[in-house]
Amino acid sequence: MEKLSYDAVIIGAGLAGLMAAHEISKAGYSAAVISKVFPTRSHSAAAEGGIAAYVNGNSDPNDSPDYMAYDTIKGGDYLVDQDAAELLAYKSGEIVELLEKWGALFNRQPDGRIALRYFGGQTYPRTRFVGDKTGMALLHTLYERTSGSGKVDFYFEWFAWELIRDESRVRGVVAFDMRNMVPFFFKAKAVVIAAGGMGMLYRHTTNSYIGTGDGYAMALRARVALKDPEFVQFHPTALYPSDILISEAARGEGAVLKNAKGERFMTRYAPKKLDLAPRDIVSRAIITEIKEGRGFPGGYVGLDISHLGEEYIKERLALAYEAAKTFSGVDATKELIPIRPAHHYYMGGIDVDITGKNPDVIGLFAAGEAACVSVHGANRLGSNSLLETLVFGRETGNEVVKFLQSFTEPSSDIDKEAEKAEQSAYDIVKKESGVHFGDILEKLRDYMWEFVGIYRDENGLKNAVSEILKLREQMKNMYVLDKSKVYNTEFYNALELKNMIDLGLVIASTALNRKESRGAHYRTDYPKRDDQNWLKHTIAYLSGNTVEITYKPVKMTKWKPEERVY
Ligand SMILES: Cc1cc2nc3c(=O)[nH]c(=O)nc-3n(C[C@H](O)[C@H](O)[C@H](O)COP(=O)(O)OP(=O)(O)OC[C@H]3O[C@@H](n4cnc5c(N)ncnc54)[C@H](O)[C@@H]3O)c2cc1C
Repeated sequence: MEKLSYDAVIIGAGLAGLMAAHEISKAGYSAAVISKVFPTRSHSAAAEGGIAAYVNGNSDPNDSPDYMAYDTIKGGDYLVDQDAAELLAYKSGEIVELLEKWGALFNRQPDGRIALRYFGGQTYPRTRFVGDKTGMALLHTLYERTSGSGKVDFYFEWFAWELIRDESRVRGVVAFDMRNMVPFFFKAKAVVIAAGGMGMLYRHTTNSYIGTGDGYAMALRARVALKDPEFVQFHPTALYPSDILISEAARGEGAVLKNAKGERFMTRYAPKKLDLAPRDIVSRAIITEIKEGRGFPGGYVGLDISHLGEEYIKERLALAYEAAKTFSGVDATKELIPIRPAHHYYMGGIDVDITGKNPDVIGLFAAGEAACVSVHGANRLGSNSLLETLVFGRETGNEVVKFLQSFTEPSSDIDKEAEKAEQSAYDIVKKESGVHFGDILEKLRDYMWEFVGIYRDENGLKNAVSEILKLREQMKNMYVLDKSKVYNTEFYNALELKNMIDLGLVIASTALNRKESRGAHYRTDYPKRDDQNWLKHTIAYLSGNTVEITYKPVKMTKWKPEERVY
């Protein structure tokens, strides 16, 4: 197998991966970034609404970083590690100012200061934005910065398949060049997993096609734990029927949810915060309205932005306006936008501490959506994710630098492990006939949506676990039609499916295990939060067909759990 050698290999060229690569290369270490797509096509580019930040002298006079941390902790239903929330809040201002210095042009207030808008669960408005293309602006800025330095090697349209480790430490990554299917062993002293989310596991998702959970599954197969894998976020306002995101910015700017009777139904579910309650609460409210017969035929409700006026809509909510028009044939300046909830974000992720370090394997780090620090707990607040990618991407990069400074070369040879990993990829697609991978994928997405979705219960979750185990078995008879070596996307889709099934099993099993409702994890058979028994992180390993579960305490600093009302 071909070999390459780097101080650090970063899997993922979204905001988290690029920020980590920036810090590592700045300190003089060699860094490679591997990405399935061209860096600026990473899902970070799809982020619309904004990035939360308390900026000194440029925030609501009553606001403070402590308020921001508190909102994040309450939003996460007290499963948030409070030291992480404080770090996020206290570093938010400087990170936004840094990105602005590098060239991201944020919208302004009339007096020239950076503009801000409300997002769900915020006591004071603190979301900063570049129209409704914030992620795009930040990602282009950061890509220019990292690629322009000439110090980072980019491998885009490369597929990272397996982590290579010995007894105690990470040794590199096996990845395929997608153009010609040639495998490479990227030897590395440190590996950062920044491979983003996993929306493709769900029938309805706002995520792009590349979100197949590769990073999580790679970690699981390397005997690395996921933290809080049962916590999956559903966004209340995905366009019906295409599931394209209508950003929370719409409600931040004053949009109102209405049912088929024309009622502003959020008055029933969150009397104070109304449409700007956190996402888990609004998603459940919409599903309840639809289930109880107050939705529109087909199963959706309406989002009203018409009162904001055409000019304002086209300036501040241009994407929402255009998506509604193009994909649902609706003129949002006059009509309701048809919406329903869809999968949006993964709070669970690779277990790391506040510096991005994983406790299972020396030299392994994770950042961004792939990681669980845990800063979002049981439910992420809107616009906190872009912030997390940058703040913790930077923390992680700096921790990798510290790690490299005291690195000693291991003596054992590891090349055999890399060859085994290459073979394990071919084994997945070696059958000539049997079940087509697409059929397995479609079933997985339906089971996850139906049984491991917004509302969950014991029967459904047990069903999900047993059906996913069956799919796992069926994978042994899976085939792909395309046998060529040139851009064989079917080959990579099959590897992605393997990743999705491994991850799906862990999500369903841990959701079955947690017998309470907290944040986005809602059990109809255990509808109450149970701090006595469940105020703790789930730590899950995958061993064969078994999900092994242990727990870790939640880090508390100043805020005692209280009832979560909005
Ligand atoms: C439609 C939408 C809108 C959003 N809006 C907002 C918002 O307004 N504010 C906010 O805070 N958050 C928002 N989010 C969430 C936020 O955008 C993401 O959580 C965040 O950008 C994730 O960044 P990341 O760097 O972790 O990963 P990503 O940007 O998802 O990048 C993942 C990278 O990993 C690479 N990769 C994955 N698997 C492999 C593999 N096997 N081999 C090689 N490379 C691989 C991909 O190619 C990609 O480069 C939104 C999300 C969506 C889907």
